[in-house]
Amino acid sequence: MIDINDRALIKKAIDKINKLAEKIDKLKIMHVCGSHEHTICKYGIRDVLPENITVVPGPGCPVCVTTQKEIDTAIYLADNGYVITTLGDMYRVPGSEKSLMEKQSEGCDVRIVYSISEAVKMAKKERDKKFVFVAIGFETTAPTTGAELIGLKDKDVDNFFILNCHRQTPPVMEFLLNEGVYLDAFICPGHVSTITGLKPYYSLCEKYKAPMVVAGFEPIDVLMAIIMILRQVVNGEAKVENEYIRAVKPEGNVLAQKIINEVFESIDVPWRGFPVVKNGGFGLREEYKRFDIYEHEDIPEIKEKIPKGCICDKILRGEKLPTDCPLFGKVCTPLNPVGSCMVSDEGTCRIFYKYRRI
Ligand code: SF4
Repeated sequence: MIDINDRALIKKAIDKINKLAEKIDKLKIMHVCGSHEHTICKYGIRDVLPENITVVPGPGCPVCVTTQKEIDTAIYLADNGYVITTLGDMYRVPGSEKSLMEKQSEGCDVRIVYSISEAVKMAKKERDKKFVFVAIGFETTAPTTGAELIGLKDKDVDNFFILNCHRQTPPVMEFLLNEGVYLDAFICPGHVSTITGLKPYYSLCEKYKAPMVVAGFEPIDVLMAIIMILRQVVNGEAKVENEYIRAVKPEGNVLAQKIINEVFESIDVPWRGFPVVKNGGFGLREEYKRFDIYEHEDIPEIKEKIPKGCICDKILRGEKLPTDCPLFGKVCTPLNPVGSCMVSDEGTCRIFYKYRRI
């Protein structure tokens, strides 16, 4: 068993990266997980990479990729008498005019919950009110939403709905490879891959000839993933590899996949910073549509207003870093976020603010 925090091992890994990089002209690697960005910033991994190897953050934070329109919809519902239940981070994301937190201070019934189950319990107890749970997240949280809806399917609960903002990660990776900025390889998300396994990456890797390595979240995991990618490039290969074998099984979490397939189907949806991503969302299947707030409430067309100067879209597409934003750390801070990337602990701007400004 290796010690993942062994300094000598880390030094050895950095030396290996430098050696392999000598045989490569230029390489741009993207990761799609806020936790990877955390590790990279916290341990200064970008600072130890050779100049020709770049690792950029992509759309890996569920709060960040939720569109302004979805936040404005939650606010519209709060204004129209619904009890909005949400995880803490979503509460602070600015909508076009206000955040859910500001709406709460104006008297709307907005409640922070730790899980969808807590929201369902509230709805069962307060039957005279209509509850909406803002369901966000990737393949990691969709099974929890799904399991709760399966449990409710045959129950007499008609005052609980979800604002479904769940999204699928591999389709946005395909979008980036196909139409996004130039990039050569992916560090695949560790958490998401515990659910999906390796299967979704094989076709992408084959089609776009892009090396893909699933990685864990210790510094040595990220360094090892970079080594594995560089090795593939040097050997003229493009394959899917799993660095995070202690958590990710090739087949993923079969039970969670079953729940997802029972409740959701793939749909095309926009992500913040992206146009519509083919199969980028999880839509509720017919049998579960009664929980979809869009089926229950006639929500008017909402036009988004993106804050002036905010470049969250470019950051989420890996085109820019937070330090390229004129508002970063001046007008936009974790206490006064202007865009979604400054709100959550998984958001690139928030992570940069936490570690890079020290
Ligand atoms: Fe948007 Fe703030 Fe990030 Fe700039 S620093 S991109 S305003 S979230």
